[in-house]
Amino acid sequence: MKKLDQLNFENSFARLPETFHSRLRPTPLPAPYLVSFNADAAKLIDLDQGEAGRPDFAGHFIGNRLLPGSDPLAMLYAGHQFGHYVPQLGDGRAILLGEVKNRAGEGWEIQLKGAGTTPYSRSGDGRAVLRSSIREYLCSEAMHGLGIPTTRALCIVGSDQEVYRESIESAAVVTRMAPSHVRFGSFEVFYYREQKEPIAQLADYVIGRHFAHLAEAPDKYAQFLNEVVLRTARLMAQWQAVGFSHGVMNTDNMSILGLTFDYGPFGFMDSYDPAYVCNHSDHEGRYAYDQQPHIGLWNLACLAQALTPIIPVEEANAALETYESIFASHYLGLMRKKLGLETVQRDDVELISGLLDAMHASHVDYTRLFRSLGRFNSVPGETNAALRDQFIDRAAFDAWAVAYRSRLQAEQSEDAGRRQRMDAVNPKYILRNYLAQIAIRKAEQSRDFSEVDRLLELLRRPFDEQPEMESYAALPPDWAQHIEVSCSS
Ligand code: AMP
Ligand code: MG
Repeated sequence: MKKLDQLNFENSFARLPETFHSRLRPTPLPAPYLVSFNADAAKLIDLDQGEAGRPDFAGHFIGNRLLPGSDPLAMLYAGHQFGHYVPQLGDGRAILLGEVKNRAGEGWEIQLKGAGTTPYSRSGDGRAVLRSSIREYLCSEAMHGLGIPTTRALCIVGSDQEVYRESIESAAVVTRMAPSHVRFGSFEVFYYREQKEPIAQLADYVIGRHFAHLAEAPDKYAQFLNEVVLRTARLMAQWQAVGFSHGVMNTDNMSILGLTFDYGPFGFMDSYDPAYVCNHSDHEGRYAYDQQPHIGLWNLACLAQALTPIIPVEEANAALETYESIFASHYLGLMRKKLGLETVQRDDVELISGLLDAMHASHVDYTRLFRSLGRFNSVPGETNAALRDQFIDRAAFDAWAVAYRSRLQAEQSEDAGRRQRMDAVNPKYILRNYLAQIAIRKAEQSRDFSEVDRLLELLRRPFDEQPEMESYAALPPDWAQHIEVSCSS
């Protein structure tokens, strides 16, 4: 395990030509203090977790002291925001320190989010608030615990520096880690500038580091697009299956590696509602839960367009055409697992949509329903009261239960084994907004970060029962209906 000053920095992105980034240092913040440290993420860069106790640790991860070997920069990109092309974005408040190569040979980029203004800050202050940093930190680790591809988070460091949003908040920096922070928008910027050369350069860079098996293929760029389509379609299926809404699916927030990327006003659904919009600034519902698969494709079309200078149009279109069937089959596969089904039957789609429709009509909690469905007793005549009582329309549940029972019987499903399989895919614990809100309130009001750490620990194992944490699986309290999350961060 390495000490802070021994991290093995490689910094490949910094070696790309200057067109791709701006080198600069983070802007210092006063009196940094460690809010939370994630030992799991530290392992990814071989960092000795004892280093979190160093007096200068917070200073390093708020950007006041540079880690030896790092080569800090802000990345350039553009993107479609809420459907409109915005020509120059770029990291307006995130600074990439570089990439650390671990013993296993994996490279992990380390980024300080909230580390000060950059040439791409526009009118922004370059800062992130403690509230949104806690949300990003917890959610990225929660997604990882759920088995969903995501950026990771190493730590949060706070400062007393005031930051002005709707109210006065305090500044924080979250250290984000990912194999790459390249986004769809990283390509778009050069397409709209009509610069072919950097598109090819960036594609070669990404292929070389992350899709090395394609490097020698004559149609490597088209195959690369194919892979991004595949990963994005699968990611969308995973979001849908777990009831996650990203909230700001702009193309600058779409990872070229198919990771869940840039956590802002995200939300996990409580009661099942396909029209769920987690972002209170999204008045049109562009990024509603049920729009996500379609937006995933829309965003991929933006990427494909940006790659047309290096990919024949027919090949780009062919890649896009694979999306819908990949998404549909992956989603269906995930939902079959959530229902504990082991075989493939023709009316599975109706069985699944029948359940979702009944849940929607009865405002049934998505996570709790699927978790309890593992306890469905398939013996004929059994009423399954604990499940049934979750529905206002009990007759609707009864009717569905008849179909489910006969479906289970048709594949000779055995209840105990099915329950185990279902518990391994239907989480008991998710990061509901109210849970994050309690942790944020404690942190803001009394600098008590124990709840952040508790949630981090809980959400590492979302499928385990954890009996002492039972209350964290409860339905949201009434006050949670009034939590509003917006783009403000
Ligand atoms: P986001 O909605 O967080 O993905 O941000 C969209 C763009 O705005 C990105 O390019 C960010 O870097 C930039 N941005 C967001 N907040 C700030 C801020 N407080 N200061 C500077 N840039 C920001
Ligand atoms: Mg962003």
